[in-house]
Amino acid sequence: MHQCSGLLIFADVPDPETGELVLRLREAHFCRVRHCPVCQWRRSLMWYARFQKALPEILGRYPNARWAFLTLTVRNCDIKELRATISSMNDAWKRLTHRAEFRNVLGWIRTTEVTKGRDESAHPHFHCMFMLSPSYFKGSNYVTQARWAELWKECLRADYTPIVDIRVVRSKKVSREALKASRTSLEASNTSSIEEYLAAVADAAREVLKYAVKPSDMLGGGNDNEWFLELTRQVHRLRFIASGGALKDALREDEETEEDLILADDPAETPDYGTRVAFAWRRKEKRYRKAGKWES
Ligand SMILES: [Zn+2]
Repeated sequence: MHQCSGLLIFADVPDPETGELVLRLREAHFCRVRHCPVCQWRRSLMWYARFQKALPEILGRYPNARWAFLTLTVRNCDIKELRATISSMNDAWKRLTHRAEFRNVLGWIRTTEVTKGRDESAHPHFHCMFMLSPSYFKGSNYVTQARWAELWKECLRADYTPIVDIRVVRSKKVSREALKASRTSLEASNTSSIEEYLAAVADAAREVLKYAVKPSDMLGGGNDNEWFLELTRQVHRLRFIASGGALKDALREDEETEEDLILADDPAETPDYGTRVAFAWRRKEKRYRKAGKWES
């Protein structure tokens, strides 16, 4: 992690929409350690870009779907019990997906986040994004926050009620009527409202796909890095992102390559005229500084 991405080489390319010159990363060496802050940032951009790319087709196939966030938590555990705790949460999740209340969840994406408790404990939780069938909102099909909490308690086989949060994604400006009116075709005249809705869903996805561990939680107070070191031992080879149902194929689950991380925020692969700008990390200054510009 110490040596991760010491040198970043960007291409100076025109933005396809505005023509303005923007920097696009072309070369870097990432350490690919699971919780490296830089690698996490690139990885979350990559997942987000993959989701964004898949989204128009998903909305085309499920124009009536609604979207919601679900956060599922458990009580904090000792950092030494983190692996066992996450594994029991994964089992509980499997049980949850088999419950009757889950039948109107058409597809889901689930990420695992671990934050640090004030007493050096660990707080693992799931961030989920649901694509819901419209019948979820009809009469007795509707699952309240209290019911989700009860279901999660049962699936966890816990003797306490865990904190659970659910919220439905709303687009700020677009009414459901506008969406319905334009749902017959994504190319219909009403594309701007579809685009806004896409943006609202994509924004929600960005929240779900963000960091697995907050960079601030990686650093111990004083000389204490033990929490973070134990965290990396505990989560070794555990999967932190999963998807299912109609969203199963939205996120390719194969291991990312260095190239994936480099092109994470440039999935369209903007044309390249060969100009290169390099930035080198200055350890003492704790920042990147321009280290050269050339034509390749
Ligand atoms: Zn790294």
